[in-house]
Amino acid sequence: MTEPDCDVLVIGGGHNGLVCAAYLAGAGLKVRVLERRGIVGGAAVTEEFHPGFRNSTASYTVSLLNPRVIADLRLAEHGLRVVERSYANFLPLPDGRAFRLGGEQTHAEVAKWSARDAGRLPDYYAMLDRVVVVLRELMQRAPPNVSDRFVLADWLSSLDVARRLKHLDMRGRRDLLDLFTKSAGELLDSWFESGPLKAALGWDSVVGNFASPYTPGSAYVLLHHVFGEVNGKSGVWGHAIGGMGAITEAMRKECVARGVAIETDAEVAQVLVERVAGMRGKAVGVALADGRELRAATIVSNLNPKLLYQKLVAPGQLDEDTVERIARYRCGSGTFRMNVALSELPDFSAAPGTQLQPHHQSGILIGPSLRYFEQAYFDAKSKEHNAGWSRAPIVELVISSTLDDTLAPPGQHVASLFCQHVHPEVDGGWDAHRDTVARLMIDTVDACAPNFRRSVLGYEALSPLDLERRFGLVGGDIFHGALGPDQLFSARPLLGQGNYRGALGQLYLCGSGTHPGGGVTGLPGRNAAREILRDLGRSPRPSP
Ligand SMILES: Cc1cc2nc3c(=O)[nH]c(=O)nc-3n(C[C@H](O)[C@H](O)[C@H](O)COP(=O)(O)OP(=O)(O)OC[C@H]3O[C@@H](n4cnc5c(N)ncnc54)[C@H](O)[C@@H]3O)c2cc1C
Repeated sequence: MTEPDCDVLVIGGGHNGLVCAAYLAGAGLKVRVLERRGIVGGAAVTEEFHPGFRNSTASYTVSLLNPRVIADLRLAEHGLRVVERSYANFLPLPDGRAFRLGGEQTHAEVAKWSARDAGRLPDYYAMLDRVVVVLRELMQRAPPNVSDRFVLADWLSSLDVARRLKHLDMRGRRDLLDLFTKSAGELLDSWFESGPLKAALGWDSVVGNFASPYTPGSAYVLLHHVFGEVNGKSGVWGHAIGGMGAITEAMRKECVARGVAIETDAEVAQVLVERVAGMRGKAVGVALADGRELRAATIVSNLNPKLLYQKLVAPGQLDEDTVERIARYRCGSGTFRMNVALSELPDFSAAPGTQLQPHHQSGILIGPSLRYFEQAYFDAKSKEHNAGWSRAPIVELVISSTLDDTLAPPGQHVASLFCQHVHPEVDGGWDAHRDTVARLMIDTVDACAPNFRRSVLGYEALSPLDLERRFGLVGGDIFHGALGPDQLFSARPLLGQGNYRGALGQLYLCGSGTHPGGGVTGLPGRNAAREILRDLGRSPRPSP
């Protein structure tokens, strides 16, 4: 084994690996990032998928990226520019009408379906805002760890959480409890009566969540999607010019500026562990797939915890309970993702025309009601009608080229199709069904915009298996593990390992399988760096 050639080895160059590496290097540590693919960025990358057409391959829209990460890593100076959609959502409906959410016309638009809902909508947003303010704070901190020993830092951290929750009045605390425990369906039904409004708001509860909107805990997934902001505007979603790869390219540049060594095509095959009899093992290095071995005093994993503990660490190196619980760690978000090259814009029956209109620049949601969402889940889950997908899927279509002319040739377009629900494991395997399901998604859009199918010049379809093969997303889980109450906060990924410190000594986790979970936030990476620097007695630490 070679001598340590750096202080920290980061396994995986996803955005959280890059963020963690940048903060550690900023504190003077010698950091090396090892990425399996030929490019860094993980699920936040831009790639060519059809000659002349580029798109954000997986993750496609920005809101959750933490403003402190943007500022600390000088992402704007490195070229990152995020633009807003013209309004949030456009829903073409089965009766030929369309529902629009967001922007100045929202009150009038909602009132067309229900005057009562239009009156209540500002109160609903205010309720979410009150909770989100506290949540945003908690997301930027390591959760208190639950351990058998008295650890002062954990007690102080618990007190800090309690102090922050005190900022909420009783009404706010009750709302918080509802949002963490109830279903999004129950919550929205208690607020509103019109189907399209509940669908537009409830979509956030099933994005990357293989569940019905009436599954308890789905309200949290909804909340998870509204804590972000774009250019200082809370809850808004936008587009990074150049695609999501522009974010991770800016992060890569800052890493390089801080002296981080980034190696691509460098797959880690194993975490090397040293063990003294009777003691917990200690991570001391990695073995790469090409046969090299590298050592460092600190090993940080950006990988899904299931991938790390089941593939990179030999089972005998872990305690039995970790092995068993990681086997039960829930992964599989029910997502099917397509990138589509288009000769022209979709001509929606509910808003005709192929010339650019504001609805083309919004999140176009095919899925008119929570009932539709629920059926889509039941179909895929039950496998009653096919090998495991919704007969009538939910499709969000974002035509990124309407906001960004760097992605497609002039006059042509690229669209991201984010589709729910598909079973993570279909009967007969995904290689046998990928194209059938891709055609279903195209037909689903075509039913609302009858020029869509014929305008498709080419596409890339990513089933859960493809997401796993390409990005290491176990079960195709877009968040590195379900965002259920059993896998959040101090319990992400496991109770007792919820503060970025892993199951082995000197091993840390910094990916979306740690608090605060998935999304292009940069927060797991930032929080993990702070904990690592605390253990090493280093400063400056990223401020809480
Ligand atoms: C289809 C899809 C759509 C999404 N849409 C959005 C969205 O619109 N907005 C949003 O905010 N979030 C979205 N997300 C979620 C978000 O993209 C992820 O939660 C986030 O990018 C994960 O970042 P990460 O750094 O934690 O992990 P990852 O991005 O998964 O990075 C892990 C890295 O580790 C590498 N790796 C794996 N195994 C090894 C190994 N053995 N050796 C070395 N390297 C290895 C991988 O190649 C990868 O680069 C989406 C995700 C997907 C998949």
